[in-house]
Amino acid sequence: MEKILNYIDGKFTSAGSGQWIDNVDPSTGKTYSLIADSDAADVEQATRAAKQAFPLWSSMPVEKRSAVLMKIAELIDRDLESLARAESVDNGKPIKSARTVDIPRASANMRFYATGAMHLATEAHLTGSEAVNYTARTPVGVAGCISPWNLPLYLFTWKIAPALAAGCTVVAKPSELTPMTAYLFTRLCAEAGLPPGVLNVVHGYGAKAGQAIIEHPDIPAISFTGGTVTGKKIASIAAPMFKKLSLELGGKNPNIIFADCDFDQAVSTTVLSSFSNQGEICLCGSRIFVERSIYDKFVDALVRKTKELTVGDPLDENSRLGALVSEAHLKKVMGYIDLAKQEGGTVLTGGSRVAVQGRCADGFFLEPTIITGLPSNCRTNQEEIFGPVVSIIPFDTEEEVLQYANNTTYGLSATIWTENLKRAHRVAAGVKSGIVWINCWLFRDLRTPFGGMKQSGVGREGGWDALKFFLETKNICIRL
Ligand code: NAD
Repeated sequence: MEKILNYIDGKFTSAGSGQWIDNVDPSTGKTYSLIADSDAADVEQATRAAKQAFPLWSSMPVEKRSAVLMKIAELIDRDLESLARAESVDNGKPIKSARTVDIPRASANMRFYATGAMHLATEAHLTGSEAVNYTARTPVGVAGCISPWNLPLYLFTWKIAPALAAGCTVVAKPSELTPMTAYLFTRLCAEAGLPPGVLNVVHGYGAKAGQAIIEHPDIPAISFTGGTVTGKKIASIAAPMFKKLSLELGGKNPNIIFADCDFDQAVSTTVLSSFSNQGEICLCGSRIFVERSIYDKFVDALVRKTKELTVGDPLDENSRLGALVSEAHLKKVMGYIDLAKQEGGTVLTGGSRVAVQGRCADGFFLEPTIITGLPSNCRTNQEEIFGPVVSIIPFDTEEEVLQYANNTTYGLSATIWTENLKRAHRVAAGVKSGIVWINCWLFRDLRTPFGGMKQSGVGREGGWDALKFFLETKNICIRL
């Protein structure tokens, strides 16, 4: 059985403990590879290697750093098909999504920051004729990068690329549920000639290997994407150590649909924002607010289109939804469907496991599910489900829908559907989310700030924000 090895100081190794974690293919329910079960001792080795490599990597001319990162991007493109297949098997997502979204975005992340680092400039401030101040930015040291399972290589590289481009060396941990493409990525890094110790990847459980990264005194910056509960735990450890902290956490995103929207576009994009990647995207809209005058028509159209979605073998090109990432996650999501019923909701479509025939008979498949009849303040409409489950709620006025939209502890993203430009601006200004899409969803430009308000996170990724996160800022004042 294939072994997913740590990558420390340019070498592929098993965990010091010699222990392994089963890696399950969610479409079959069967173990198909083994993951190094690392602990604090492995993180210590990785951190030592990263510290040793830091002087060389951070002082390397930026053109050279950039060239290595560009080479990694080329190798990702070369291996597009095998990486897409690996991602699909590891996560359960349809291979088509992995091929068109996840893996291309991973190489785009590498290219974006490889080139971005070459354009990084700093500011100078003339203080009258008496002084000049200039801002120096230097890499912060060893960065800790921890990523989740939903967009495995996409989010892993979204952190690693700016860290490496900024001149940091890295100790990283992908999710123990989906470590395969991060492992394959390390093989590409070795092939591309990334110097040993610059990127170190330690596999294993969050509470063990992940937490050892957070606790390590020689890792001064932590970039984390994952759940809000984990984010709180990480902040409680990192804050007293005064580490730099970037947290990208959960969401309970509203879709606000006004009667004057482009109806067909709003319906078809809402299908995507509800069920893409089995609803396992932090940016999926799970609370759909529809203006009452089009409520019935919208609900009918959404249900009809949702029923057309094929749930099936992720390796089948025709599958629109694959398997949920794990049995535990499937149970959690189904628990929320039960809760919705207890809270008085009506399941209009979906709600049950899908029995896929053949090799996927034991996989973790769930029907895309639409629920109505619930108030905005019930648990189903307050807590992150992170699966193919949405709830639709009618509204009458702008004020009312803004109150609903903002009435959760989260504030990651929102979509607004209207042809009225003034209203679009007004509502966008009123929504408490870090990202607002008007008449679109997940339309990304990597230069834009990305992140959440409230319990959806702290700080912003993307563009200069991510590069600057991995840099320490110093002002130098010269008296003229
Ligand atoms: P998770 O918090 O369980 O795990 C995320 C990562 O943290 C994993 O690598 C895990 O091993 C590690 N981890 C767990 N406990 C840890 C600890 N004590 N110390 C250090 N590391 C630890 O999240 P998940 O279930 O993998 O991902 C789903 C969550 O991620 C959802 O809440 C989703 O909304 C969120 N997410 C947010 C964004 C965003 O950009 N805001 C993007 C994707 C996913």
